Amino acid sequence: MVRDLSISLSPEEAADKEKMKMRAAKKLGVRIGDIKALRIQRKSIDARRKDVKINITLSVFIGEEAPPAFTPVSFPDVHHAKRSAVVVGFGPAGIFASLTLLENGIRPVVLERGLDVHSRLKDTAHFSRTGELNSESNYAFGEGGAGAFSDGKLYTRSLKRGNVRKVLSLLVQHGADEEILYESHPHIGSDRLPYIIENMRNTIISHGGEVLFGKKVTGLIRRHDETVGITTSDGCEYMGPVILATGHSAKDVYYFLSASGFSLEAKSTAAGVRLEHRQSLIDSIQYHSDSGRGPYLPAASYSFVTQVNGRGVYSFCMCPGGVIVPASSEDGHMVVNGMSPHSRGGRFANSGMIVELRKEELEDTDPFAMLRYIESIEQKCFNPGFAAPAERLDDFIAHKCSSSFPETSFPRPLVPVVMDDVFPPLIAESLREGFKAFDRMTRSRFITRDALIIAPETRTSSPVRILRDVAMKQGRGLYPAGEGAGYAGGIVSAAIDGTEAALRLGGDYAY
Ligand SMILES: Cc1cc2nc3c(=O)[nH]c(=O)nc-3n(C[C@H](O)[C@H](O)[C@H](O)COP(=O)(O)OP(=O)(O)OC[C@H]3O[C@@H](n4cnc5c(N)ncnc54)[C@H](O)[C@@H]3O)c2cc1C
Repeated sequence: MVRDLSISLSPEEAADKEKMKMRAAKKLGVRIGDIKALRIQRKSIDARRKDVKINITLSVFIGEEAPPAFTPVSFPDVHHAKRSAVVVGFGPAGIFASLTLLENGIRPVVLERGLDVHSRLKDTAHFSRTGELNSESNYAFGEGGAGAFSDGKLYTRSLKRGNVRKVLSLLVQHGADEEILYESHPHIGSDRLPYIIENMRNTIISHGGEVLFGKKVTGLIRRHDETVGITTSDGCEYMGPVILATGHSAKDVYYFLSASGFSLEAKSTAAGVRLEHRQSLIDSIQYHSDSGRGPYLPAASYSFVTQVNGRGVYSFCMCPGGVIVPASSEDGHMVVNGMSPHSRGGRFANSGMIVELRKEELEDTDPFAMLRYIESIEQKCFNPGFAAPAERLDDFIAHKCSSSFPETSFPRPLVPVVMDDVFPPLIAESLREGFKAFDRMTRSRFITRDALIIAPETRTSSPVRILRDVAMKQGRGLYPAGEGAGYAGGIVSAAIDGTEAALRLGGDYAY
């Protein structure tokens, strides 16, 4: 017999399966020895009060064993499949598109401009240490895409758009912890993502697909209004319908699509800074305790949102126990981002603090107007060696240039600036008022001398959208997908969008 129940436990009880079992037995009125297994279905932290609780929904297996938590996908062998498709880009959208093609008996041929994930690890470490950027192998480009070194937070709002459970199950099938299936805010960690991605690549190759690195796609091959293949920078051609999953850092792709006559439009996005606090401060604010989070609670996170003169200002991609990284993919452009390892055990907490940017407010109306606006910020923030503009948060509020900086996780040098000199007034002023609002929400604990802001956080979502409906009318064969197409923002939504693109392709080419 299986009985479901919801219980509210102390953090210590929730960390101990035996104690959980005892509570379940008592609540259901059964003997503890009759409980063969517990399966957590949902787990969340209720930190609204000082007495923090862990809310758990459980399936309790009484007198019977639990079945596996999910059914692994069994992939067919496509070595000799009649159908094949080209997948450009091996980020979350391209990976899940390839796995879906494979599952449906279509042989994926993946072309990725960057290197395999392990070479990327070396390249990003070298960049962080020296400021020498490899423009084809960095935090944006290479196996796993921006998702490879991302924080791996798997929370998404796109529940209605696709099968989130399937995305999470495939990640577990390839090495992620089962806890991502039930945590309310699942998280993998930047240290674990690379080997999961490698496992996914191995699934594709061992079943007959191809994954080629150092293959930068530079154009489409069109025949009678149909996209029938692509060309690469080394002069090769790969034939087949094309899933284009190149992410939003691949500006060259937007330009060659536009030159090929595809319709693009400017897209609203958001930009701002990365903010870093001591994790212990965030723990004490969120868990209402000066003694920190204790041994059983995870590093605390936050999510802030406010309106400044009708414009959204909000925290984005918060990384408890994480680090700030230089995430540029081209010389002359400064970009920062954040990530955290699985343990989230670091001493710092960082988060993007960003301001909504509306495309209607741009002076220009062409498809690249928002991209140019974002680029102008990245260029203004650039310093030789990828030293980043920075300011203490309290100095920013007081319009003062900082004369010193607190300790930080950011690996490149910092350049003291007044953020108003590197950002348009709209962003700087909105951020300032936003920070004041967040300070009020935390009873004046958010704006501290030790909090640091580093600029700029600009790659929050694509500033360009590829108009897919129009592209479809322009002839079949091209399936723009993921964040670069402007229809996803984050690992899971990009994975779902890649999956949907592969299913559409499978339907269109069911010969
Ligand atoms: C540091 C960091 C932390 C992040 N943390 C999170 C997080 O915790 N949670 C979350 O949901 N999201 C996070 N994100 C965002 C997330 O990574 C992206 O939303 C997601 O990766 C988008 O997936 P995608 O497949 O659409 O594009 P991408 O991941 O950008 O992948 C595109 C791929 O295409 C390749 N490519 C580009 N142009 C070409 C070409 N011409 N030819 C061949 N290949 C090409 C690129 O090399 C890249 O591998 C983070 C991003 C970064 C940078």
